[in-house]
Amino acid sequence: MAISIKTGTDIEKMRLAGGVIALCHQRVKEAIAPGVSTGELDTIVRDTIAEQGAVSNFFGHQGFPGYCCTSVNEEIVHGIPGKRRLVEGDIITVDIGAIVEGFHGDSAWTYGVGTISDDASRLLADTEAALYEGLAQAIAGNRLGAIGHAVEGYAGRRGYGIVREYGGHGIGRQMWEEPHIPNHGKPGHGIRLRAGMTLAIEPMLSLGVDDTRVLEDEWTVATADGSWSAHFEHTVAVTDGAPEILTRQADLVVQ
Ligand code: MG
Ligand code: MG
Repeated sequence: MAISIKTGTDIEKMRLAGGVIALCHQRVKEAIAPGVSTGELDTIVRDTIAEQGAVSNFFGHQGFPGYCCTSVNEEIVHGIPGKRRLVEGDIITVDIGAIVEGFHGDSAWTYGVGTISDDASRLLADTEAALYEGLAQAIAGNRLGAIGHAVEGYAGRRGYGIVREYGGHGIGRQMWEEPHIPNHGKPGHGIRLRAGMTLAIEPMLSLGVDDTRVLEDEWTVATADGSWSAHFEHTVAVTDGAPEILTRQADLVVQ
């Protein structure tokens, strides 16, 4: 399947979808506290998407029952929101998507609940930094492998497990478009990036192994060894200069 190139109008719609997602993240971040359930966070996402006149791309996808994915501690991705209540010291990844005028956005962020351990703090800061390392390579003329290479180099040097069974993806008229974007790779490998490509870049790191397992609910993916995991994702547009972050959260910008 060919990789689609978006025009300025398409990218404007993706910017709007990204803005809705960023607003969801802002409200989720404010709500996260010990005692709050993952289902309550899901309600915030559902209501914010509706308030903004957007559509959820997660709800109902292959039967997924939530408006966001909530993955706690050793859970990496695809956690189902529900009755679980957060406790002090947990970390939670909230992965949120939305559609505006047929165009998709996708962004995940890992948050601490109250005071978290030094190891967990370091994991969150370094996974976020790995996202920006990868994202900085999403430049017209680079090959796709440069993104994964940058993530792998940054995370590997610091001793993290790098989840290899899941990764980023093209995004636009669909949530998952070509190409798959692994969080490892070689700079000279893969397709050549062009201005107008829109990509979801999403490193997932762990304090232990690379390997994953799917839990009994048949959705939630966790680390094989139970080590804690973080996941940071932005939807970006490749330009001739620096990539444009379409899901930017104003109060969470690091560069
Ligand atoms: Mg996502
Ligand atoms: Mg994604």
